[in-house]
Amino acid sequence: MPTGEVDSAGLLLIISGPSGVGKTTITRAVERAIKGSVFSVSVTTRPKTVADVEGVDYRFISGDEFDRMIEQDELLEHADVFGKKYGTPRAWVEEHLGEGRLVILEIDVEGANQVKSKRPDAFAIFIEPPSEDVLLDRLRARNREDEDSIQRRFAEAKREIAEAKSGGFYDAFIVNNNLERAIEETLGLIHERRLG
Ligand code: 5GP
Repeated sequence: MPTGEVDSAGLLLIISGPSGVGKTTITRAVERAIKGSVFSVSVTTRPKTVADVEGVDYRFISGDEFDRMIEQDELLEHADVFGKKYGTPRAWVEEHLGEGRLVILEIDVEGANQVKSKRPDAFAIFIEPPSEDVLLDRLRARNREDEDSIQRRFAEAKREIAEAKSGGFYDAFIVNNNLERAIEETLGLIHERRLG
């Protein structure tokens, strides 16, 4: 089936990668390119920033509400990232997979591990920077944080890449040397997977 159509079985797509690697741009490009695909809006306890749109980027909820969702088994996966909680609402994902859609999760390595152990048929892609130096440059170029926070993110990114590589639960790794090419490669892999 050509990419761009809804297939009867649906496909759960996981996209992960360290901060600054361009994964949000790639994820949103996949969503635009594949007709009928949907982006899973996570819940998080992190504060909303000016760049975030409630209900589009995240649903911003309290720690109590997050704990209630875990207790009632409403989350497909959840993880702590930089001291804040993030999770994927299960019912929404299942409903859209049931409609045969490509459902996109942009989640961290820990979350990807949880989803793959529950649903081995999920397709997990990890986006890598071309090198550590390039990643550090990109984190600095975002101009969002002070040098301490940048160094913290950089250390966390290196840890995440090592964990992704050794974990064995990613189906593919894409090096983001060039954004257009990384998007094309991602779309190609999804296409192949849907044909297979
Ligand atoms: P940010 O706060 O910068 O938007 O995201 C921080 C990290 O949390 C990113 O690596 C992002 O992929 C991850 N993340 C976002 N939503 C979820 C989620 O629902 N579950 C998990 N496990 N990680 C998430």
